[in-house]
Amino acid sequence: MRILITGGAGFLGSHLSDLLIGQGHEVIALDNLITGRAENIAHLIGNPKFSFVKYNVCDYLHVDGQLDAVMHFASPASPQDYLEMPIATLKVGALGTHKALGLAKAKGARFLLASTSEVYGDPLLNPQPETYWGNVNPIGARGVYDEAKRFAEAMTMAYHRYHGVDTRIVRIFNTYGPRMRPKDGRVVSNFIVQALQGKPLTVFGDGSQTRSFCYVDDLVRGIVALLLAKSDKSVAERTDRTKFLTQKPDAILDSIHDPVNIGNPRELTVRGIAEIILKLTGSKSVIEERPLPADDPKVRRPDITRAKTLLGWEPKVELEDGIRKATEYFRQVVVK
Ligand code: NAD
Ligand code: UDP
Repeated sequence: MRILITGGAGFLGSHLSDLLIGQGHEVIALDNLITGRAENIAHLIGNPKFSFVKYNVCDYLHVDGQLDAVMHFASPASPQDYLEMPIATLKVGALGTHKALGLAKAKGARFLLASTSEVYGDPLLNPQPETYWGNVNPIGARGVYDEAKRFAEAMTMAYHRYHGVDTRIVRIFNTYGPRMRPKDGRVVSNFIVQALQGKPLTVFGDGSQTRSFCYVDDLVRGIVALLLAKSDKSVAERTDRTKFLTQKPDAILDSIHDPVNIGNPRELTVRGIAEIILKLTGSKSVIEERPLPADDPKVRRPDITRAKTLLGWEPKVELEDGIRKATEYFRQVVVK
């Protein structure tokens, strides 16, 4: 397949590029580098199966030749990044998703949206199944990201139902691994870097909030399985308005085109992950509490029943092994 990845120079986009190229596909990575880095894809430059275009996905998109898939990963993803770039985040989720879908439609290509567990907001249900509609504060600081992704999901389903585009939506839960920016502000990178530098580990609030962490190799394997799975509906079925306009909400999630959670269901408190990282790095750092950011979700854990049933996917990398691999990476890139 010839695949365009928006956000291809980011943490996940670069790992996806590696996996797809390894499977023999051709990848065009499009990225404006606002949070991504050229070094994430430096090893792919010169590979005939890879090309890079520095471009803003919100602008008119033109790609020469055939395209088989568009994977829309462009968006600031770390809370620190999207709180610093609220309007760029809303634009890439809204205008960027529209442009990427328009390109997929024009090329007759499959489309995969990188959505997020943040569509569940501060969930009132734990673990979160895909049928849960979420609890998002639209006007809170985090709303710029959560609502952009919720809009992107709505836009994706509209292109699917009205134009028959073969779309996929992955709801990605917290993922960690090599190529995260050491200062991108996410909890695992922050704690490993702080531990390696002998600085205090900054636990926000009392650290009783929970997250479930997936190693990047597991995540991209699940996403590629979702991309490559065959559509279970013909174009006529996808665009059958009498059917989808009268369908009951709880009957909607039965198709490969409906959202799929990908993440690791092992749930830990933030203080718990800090303690694991201290132990695995052998660091003498202390844990210090800092103010809890507004609207910080109290719990988060994926229900991965759909991914298991639809794709035969489940995570394989134990947290401790993943943290060791990520620590090796940060040891190399962080100046002590
Ligand atoms: P990242 O910041 O490393 O990568 C995002 C990439 O998108 C960057 O390279 C950035 O330069 C690029 N980008 C942003 N706006 C753009 C624009 N307008 N035009 C072109 N490129 C643009 O983040 P990531 O962790 O790799 O996340 C990738 C995707 O996965 C995002 O859509 C994010 O919302 C989603 N996601 C990630 C996680 C996670 O834990 N990493 C969890 C849930 C969802
Ligand atoms: N967090 C923390 N210390 C940090 C960074 C984050 O305690 O230095 C907390 C944050 O408040 C949240 C959790 O860790 O409860 C995960 O934060 P992250 O930014 O990684 O992602 P989120 O799941 O909030 O999008």
